[in-house]
Order: sequence, then C-alpha cells, then structure tokens
Amino acid sequence: MNKLAYLEEKIEQLKKDGVYRILPVNAGPCANVITLNGRRTVNLSANNYLGLATHPRVIAAAKTALERYGVGAGSVRTIVGNQDLLEKLESTIAEFKREEAVTVFQSGLNCNLGTIPAVTDKEDLILSDELNHASIIDGIKLSKADKAVYKHKDVGDLERIVASERSKHRNILIITDGVFSMDGDLAPLPKIVEIAERYGCLTYVDDAHGSGVLGENGRGTVDHFHLNGKVDFIVGTLSKAVGTIGGYVASAQIVKEWLLHRGRPLLFSTALPPAEVAAATEAIRLLSESGEYTARLWDNARHFKAGLSALGFDLGHSETPITPVMLGNEALTMAFSKALLAEGVFVSGIVFPTVPLGKGRLRCMLSAGHTPADLDFAIQAFAKVGKNLGILSR
Ligand SMILES: *Cc1c(COP(=O)(O)O)cnc(C)c1O
Repeated sequence: MNKLAYLEEKIEQLKKDGVYRILPVNAGPCANVITLNGRRTVNLSANNYLGLATHPRVIAAAKTALERYGVGAGSVRTIVGNQDLLEKLESTIAEFKREEAVTVFQSGLNCNLGTIPAVTDKEDLILSDELNHASIIDGIKLSKADKAVYKHKDVGDLERIVASERSKHRNILIITDGVFSMDGDLAPLPKIVEIAERYGCLTYVDDAHGSGVLGENGRGTVDHFHLNGKVDFIVGTLSKAVGTIGGYVASAQIVKEWLLHRGRPLLFSTALPPAEVAAATEAIRLLSESGEYTARLWDNARHFKAGLSALGFDLGHSETPITPVMLGNEALTMAFSKALLAEGVFVSGIVFPTVPLGKGRLRCMLSAGHTPADLDFAIQAFAKVGKNLGILSR
C-alpha cells in the first residue's frame, strides 16, 4: 500500500492547474544579476532591496565575528544567555528605530509566531487586516484570543468592529502589515493609531517590507508617518532590506522583558549565529549613516514602473518599490514567469494561496543595486513576452 498516495494526488492536481514549481538554482550570491540555471539573468525576485546582502562592509563584519565567535550560538537565549554581539544588535536597532527596546528573533516569521500569542490571552480580541502576511495569520492561530478580520485598509470597518466589541474584551490588538507584501500598498496607520488611542486598543505593525525602504534612511512605515513611540509592537525583518537573517520587535522595555520569558521561539529555538548578528548590526549602521541606498532604490522603482506603465501593464496600486504586474489567471501568470526566465529575467509568479484565486501576478522586486541597463533589459523582456502571450496589443 502506498501510504503517500494522497500527496501524489495533490501534486498531480498542482501540475494540472499549471502551478507546480521547480525551483531554479542560483550558482552564487543573491545579487541583482545572477547565474540562474547556468544563464545570466536579471533578478527581480529578491527582497535584498538595498543590495546589502553582498555589501563589503557587511561581509567584513561577518568574517570578523566568524573568526572570533565561531559559527553557532550554541543554544537558546534563555539557556545559554546572550552573546554580546546580540545585545549590540538590539541596542543598535533600538537607537535606529527610535524606540525604547528591541528583541531580536531568528526571523520575521518567528517574531509573529512568538509575539502575538505571548501578548494576548483568551479575554482579548485580535483584529487583523484581511491581507496580512501568512506569518501573522499563523501567529494569530497560536493565540487563545478571539479573532476577527477587517476589510483591507478599511478603517470604517475596523472602527465599527472596535466600537461594538471594545467593552467585551480586556484588550483589543489591531494588527496590520505596514507595507502589504503582495501589493505594495501602505496601511492607513495614522487613522488606525487614532482609532486605537480613542478606544484604548493595542497596535501591532509588521513592517517587514517597510524596514529599509520607507521613512528617514529606511526607518520604516511608522517613521514615515511620524508615529514613532505610538505603535505598541513594531515587527521588522533583518532578512529583506537589511540583507541578512533575523527579525525584531521594537517596543517598550516591559514588552521585551515579557518576550524573553514567553516568546516561545526565544525559549525553544537556538539564537541566530554570531556572524549574521554582526552582519546585521553593520547593515543597520550603514543605514544610519546614509540615505543613499534607500534613495537609489526609489529611483530604480520609479524608472521601472514608468517603463512598464508606458507599455500598458496593470501595476495595481503599489505605493512602494514592490511592483506587481497584475495578470489574474494562475496558469497565465506562471507561463509569463517561465517565458521571462527564457528571456533572462527572473520574476516569480505569485498565485493562490499566497494571493486570492484569480489575482495572480508577477511581483517585481527592485533593488538599489540594479543598473538602468538591467532595468531596461527587463522592461524589453516584459514587452516581448506581453505581446507573445497576447496581453499587450502588438
Ligand atoms: C517576509 C515577511 C515576513 C517574514 O520575514 P522573515 O524574516 O523572512 O521570516 C514577515 N512578515 C511580512 C509582512 C513579510 O513580508
């Protein structure tokens, strides 16, 4: 008897639906031009927004830490303690973010899985934007609190629920992405904070795609809206614009003390390796020193978006360098992605369940490291494939 037949059936269905993936192999660093499946390819798929994954100063910091500290942290923080490098990273991020305290987790996903259940309980209610990231949804599932979803960015819907539910719960925690990862639009944070203040609710912003991209020198969406100190829990990632790995929660000191006791990924999974911790610290220093990386990212995004718009592509309603090319049909999206790869441009198709059915798209990720020539090459490939697949008129 084949006990795994149920998985074979599911895989067969993915193939029939045209959404089965074979992951391409990149022989080298995650740069802006890569060698993919042995061929020179412009990379529009990475979250390495500022090119810091290969920055010489970041690599040098990692090397120094590697020599002094070795390759592993040895255990979980609550058992083996903190390496001084980790304490330095947390204080460096707190200063950069202009928040009281920072707690570093092993990834952004771990921040959400650890923090949401730690700061809520059964007498609470969590309100979540319907397009929040999967790691928020999973973190909410781990909480004993009541849960409800409000319509995407709809502060009227949010306020309606808050008004009718406030008296029934100890706390209401409002959770939103700062930048929505699949569309590139911004949360209406000023209004959310205002509602939260009026009704005494807690606020939680996952700023994975805002960190390093928005605000002064990339301080994030909360800084962009001048709301520093007014959001209770700000999650950021070190894995995207910062170019390394890890995540953090910026908050009041009391939140940090609690997370060090009840943030389960900190209690049950080994701390980040020292080289990555030192690399992340150096990357945050680079951002503190200069706005040039963020400025170049935005210049590239404007150039690329103008090129695709002029061709007639639907770019959704992004307000950030995230550039979704909206195609709709899942199989068409995957076919477009495959055809672009044949032209030397790598853009992953994003389809259900990452986005709703019928909302397939090619999500182009720009970086400060792209040259104008890289971007023009990609725009031309989009024009050719768009015509070949009948999406653009000839
Ligand atoms: C990417 C992302 C995460 C996960 O961050 P990692 O550090 O890669 O685990 C969490 N939340 C949002 C909104 C993201 O876009």
